[in-house]
Amino acid sequence: MQIADGKVALFHYTLTNDQGDILDTSSGGDPLGYVHGTGTIIPGLEAAMTGKSTGDSFQVSIEPKDAYGQHNQALVQRVPRQLFPLDEEIKQGMQFQAKADAGGLQIVTILEVGEAEVTIDGNHPLAGVRLNFDVEITDVRDATEEETAHGHTHGPSGAH
Ligand code: ZN
Repeated sequence: MQIADGKVALFHYTLTNDQGDILDTSSGGDPLGYVHGTGTIIPGLEAAMTGKSTGDSFQVSIEPKDAYGQHNQALVQRVPRQLFPLDEEIKQGMQFQAKADAGGLQIVTILEVGEAEVTIDGNHPLAGVRLNFDVEITDVRDATEEETAHGHTHGPSGAH
């Protein structure tokens, strides 16, 4: 069976940046599962999956525009130090979740801590990064009615 809209695909992946650092991998765990055509995975990877079958392996490099977007300088902001709890140590490189203006959660990274101000970056940590995926398709099957209704997979690698 080939991956097409409405099919469930399970796959193992290793994600590296252009420097060869492993950013994420499913190796040693369950494969990742998703319903194709639902926009659950990043657009560039979903496009590359189309037409692949069980047992296929491939590599794909995905430009930021088809992944987590370009780095947006407007999301780098200086905010008063007092917005953060005083009893909590904050330092460069820390990440936390904040409410996004558009709703939902966004990851915010601390770039610099000054005495009065803290510089934060609201870009996704992988914004502006080209993503290199090493993918192995482990299963392709029809989605159940429930999975189609929910837009995600059920079972060992699923959402519930
Ligand atoms: Zn569900």
